[in-house]
Amino acid sequence: MSDHSTKPAEQKNDFIRQIIREDIAAQKYQQIVTRFPPEPNGYLHLGHVKSICLNFGIADEFGGVCNLRYDDTNPTAEKQDYIDNIKNDVQWLGFEWSGEARHASSYFDQLYAWAVQLIEQGDAYVDLQTLEQIRDNRGSFAEVGKPSTHREATIAENLQLFDDMKNGKFKEGEAVLRAKIDMASPNMNMRDPIIYRVMHQSHHQTGDKWCIYPMYDFAHPLSDAIEGITHSICTLEFADHRPFYDWAVEKIGEKGGIKLAPHQYEFSRLNVDHTLTSKRKLKQLVDENIVSGWDDPRMPTIAGMRRRGYTPEGLRDFCDRVGVAKSDGVVDFRLLEFSIRQSLETTTARGMAVLKPLKVTITNFDEALKEWDSLKDEGVVARWDNEQNTLWLTQPNHPNVDMGEREIPFTETIYIDQGDYELEPPKGYKRLSPEKPEIRLRNTYVLAITEHVLDDAGNVVELKATIDPTTLGKNPEDRKVKGVIHWVSASQGVPATVRLYEQLFAVADPSSVSDVHDALNPNSLTVLEAVVEPSLANSAAGTRFQFEREGYFIADNEDHSNDKPVFNQIVSLRDTFKPA
Ligand code: ATP
Ligand code: MG
Repeated sequence: MSDHSTKPAEQKNDFIRQIIREDIAAQKYQQIVTRFPPEPNGYLHLGHVKSICLNFGIADEFGGVCNLRYDDTNPTAEKQDYIDNIKNDVQWLGFEWSGEARHASSYFDQLYAWAVQLIEQGDAYVDLQTLEQIRDNRGSFAEVGKPSTHREATIAENLQLFDDMKNGKFKEGEAVLRAKIDMASPNMNMRDPIIYRVMHQSHHQTGDKWCIYPMYDFAHPLSDAIEGITHSICTLEFADHRPFYDWAVEKIGEKGGIKLAPHQYEFSRLNVDHTLTSKRKLKQLVDENIVSGWDDPRMPTIAGMRRRGYTPEGLRDFCDRVGVAKSDGVVDFRLLEFSIRQSLETTTARGMAVLKPLKVTITNFDEALKEWDSLKDEGVVARWDNEQNTLWLTQPNHPNVDMGEREIPFTETIYIDQGDYELEPPKGYKRLSPEKPEIRLRNTYVLAITEHVLDDAGNVVELKATIDPTTLGKNPEDRKVKGVIHWVSASQGVPATVRLYEQLFAVADPSSVSDVHDALNPNSLTVLEAVVEPSLANSAAGTRFQFEREGYFIADNEDHSNDKPVFNQIVSLRDTFKPA
């Protein structure tokens, strides 16, 4: 059972879930245990969302648990800030890990003892070749590797050398511990891989306790074993590492206290067009100030998507739709936008915001409003405020979901969007033009343009208009008025900064471009000085809305205030894209 997903669990039947169902049927495990194992060397991104939804989702669906484990074996690139944000991101997506968050680094003592066990078994040796020699002697696909001269040292010599490594007697690169497997293996990962290296670095968790650190490929399977992970799910690039994963678990085995051998299963990583999913490359964008930070709303990081206004529900739905497979592919980013949009449709209040304001003066406002009183009984809820010269119209916040109501101020001067009046309208244009001066203003009267004012360059800078006082909440009796546009009161509306976004990358596959600068979309951010109705300005940071006719927006979590509202575009209102 999972309440995290829009798709019922029984409908999810990818190859990993099939394996788990079989394992459960065979009563192979007491409980399914998965883990999400990020290295804290950056912020999590869209690719990780897939891994999180899969690992935590499976635990939820099969009555198991999922651990959060930091694979922190490389202290140079790792930071506490990253650790904290990863936790925050996982929780925001709606998942809870089992117990405390774990660290591979808290297993360093055990891993060290197991490395000693391997030496004692004759399964590991200290190599004093330079890293270059080690690389050269590994051979290639065409050529078998050349065994190191240190490969045949005695167990006693190796134990001494490994102890020396641990005690700081070697500089970085002078000595490594290698698994003794097969220098002729067709799998390069089995040609005596390095399992420990010297690094004179303090570690964010263990301080200066260690000057040797286990390699990821050694730490990972054994950390899984320590935690009793049953299904260790990772991306396809680790398939070639699986033989070593199994080797390490088997060699340590029961003798080393491993009761249950974890198994690794690989699925295809998530690739989305116009998107980068690599912490290293995303870090470059942050370091070079190409974006405003890890949480820039254009970033495919969870922090960025959160600030952009994407919803956890939408992201989880997207992962469900993408599914889990064994072959690599690229997902259309519009599928992500589709899922986000779906999650917003019935959950966000509506409001009016004019993104490119064009002033409209209603020349018969006072005269028309005199008649308002007499229309009071016709089902329109409104109140006339004499002092403010404002008609306050009460409207529901959503047309068919109960989200309460609000008052919208209607005044003598309003703004409409510049795009809603065209001097020379293109064919099929349904809004205002000199030839089609009449239109309905959403939630209020029918408006008729009587005059446009041009600047020296011939641009329309202001409109004059009248309203038909008989049309509040109903159509005129003698004619048909086509089209509805949104508007905001000029005197009661609030100036707001609105940020519109396009894809951060202009090219479909930014990872294929060697210089990331060449892949960027120069139009990824547009900042507009807009005007919004008071109900939008008065919202709390983090509130999402549908701006009528414009799209979904969120009051920015960092910069928004009621006096100076700031909104980020989440996603446009609709797209022609339909998922399969
Ligand atoms: P990056 O290259 O961005 O650093 P990574 O794979 O090195 O990614 P880790 O922190 O090691 O990042 O990843 C944690 C987990 O997330 C791993 O199990 C990894 O397989 C998974 N993961 C990372 N990127 C993707 C992706 N694009 N699609 C699916 N899963 C992913
Ligand atoms: Mg990595």
